[in-house]
Amino acid sequence: MTDEPQDLFQCTECQAGVMHMRHITYFTWLDEELVTVPNFPAWVCDVCGRREYDARAISWLVTILNPETGKASGSKRRVRPPLEKRDGARPIRD
Ligand SMILES: [Zn+2]
Repeated sequence: MTDEPQDLFQCTECQAGVMHMRHITYFTWLDEELVTVPNFPAWVCDVCGRREYDARAISWLVTILNPETGKASGSKRRVRPPLEKRDGARPIRD
């Protein structure tokens, strides 16, 4: 079944914990600059502490961090599509 509830789901790492929506401070490097994003939504496992970031939040972050965003005149630049399918990111188990 791929019917996942929206609010919480099982951790893919430990298979025992449940992922909860938390707001954490997200750190990322933009060129050589460390960017911190407070109150960033993330799913955190209550057992092993694994973090997963919401695909929409990530694409929003990519949008605001992309220096070309908003500059493009005429041609519309699209941020990458939602990460529904990540090739090779995760082994598919049955
Ligand atoms: Zn876990």
